Amino acid sequence: MGIRLSIVVPCYNEEAVLPETARRLRLLLDRIYASGLITGDSAVYFVDDGSRDATWTTITTLNGQDPRLRGIKLSRNQGHQAALLAGLLTVEGDAVVSIDADLQDDISVIEAMVKEHVAGAEVVYGVRDSRATDTAFKRRTALLYYQLMRRFGVELVHNHADFRLLSRRAVEALRQYGEVNIFLRGIIPMIGYRAATVKYDRAERFAGVSKYPLRKMLAFALEGVTSLSVVPLRIITLLGFLVSMFSFFMIIFVLYGTLVVKAVIPGWASSVVPIYFLGGIQLLAIGILGEYIGKIYLESKARPRFFIESTL
Ligand code: UDP
Ligand code: MG
Repeated sequence: MGIRLSIVVPCYNEEAVLPETARRLRLLLDRIYASGLITGDSAVYFVDDGSRDATWTTITTLNGQDPRLRGIKLSRNQGHQAALLAGLLTVEGDAVVSIDADLQDDISVIEAMVKEHVAGAEVVYGVRDSRATDTAFKRRTALLYYQLMRRFGVELVHNHADFRLLSRRAVEALRQYGEVNIFLRGIIPMIGYRAATVKYDRAERFAGVSKYPLRKMLAFALEGVTSLSVVPLRIITLLGFLVSMFSFFMIIFVLYGTLVVKAVIPGWASSVVPIYFLGGIQLLAIGILGEYIGKIYLESKARPRFFIESTL
């Protein structure tokens, strides 16, 4: 009885946290197994995303201690989302839970996720109840980003990162999204099968440092917008329309001044300001177009998203 559960853990330079993460996940597997929810061949898959430290050696050692701790080694660093996708699309099992290696997400709710799945949910989102451990800056920008994405017509689950359960059916649906610009938390709600949420408190990373500096976070946020929404392109069109309307009135105004009032003073400001203004808008618009063309460029190549070097 019970379902076969796979837990996917992307790891990039995580030698400092892995032994503890593995210890806790083993205990968790034992506990859920004892309650009869999962089968004995349920396992944890650590996806080594081209780490430069002893992550893979650690995974190999862990596998020697407990065959339920397994490993997938990517050929090189592909980034968090690709590593996660590689794990999700490779492992077997009736349900797959993805979770970060640093255990900032509370693993004890995995049991609740499995219960929701057994009760019929194909996707179970882990949602942070409190973000007390995040900085006020991170919380505020996250909320702003979420609201912006909603405006752009992208459905995101608020306060949900990549801690979730996917049923076999949901994973097979995800497999059909062939895009190379991967933003999983925007793609999964599009699948549309029955979903549920479980709440938890987010903790501090207990060892090692964040692999997401501000620069990577901004890139990730931009990726989310440009790979899921075309609203920014529409905003350019609207802006162009408004500026054109404005210049139309300006023409009338200037003609009126020249032909009727006949008292125009050669203006410096009125010619220089529009040059800066229009120049700025045009560059911005070209930049936004460029972002999308870049995406088209990458998608049209349809390059493979990851290569698996070896598995344990
Ligand atoms: N990660 C990865 N590849 C990368 C960067 C990060 O697989 O290129 C993994 C990392 O090992 C961790 C997860 O993605 O399991 C989230 O990273 P982190 O905890 O550093 O991000 P934060 O929680 O600070 O946003
Ligand atoms: Mg983290």
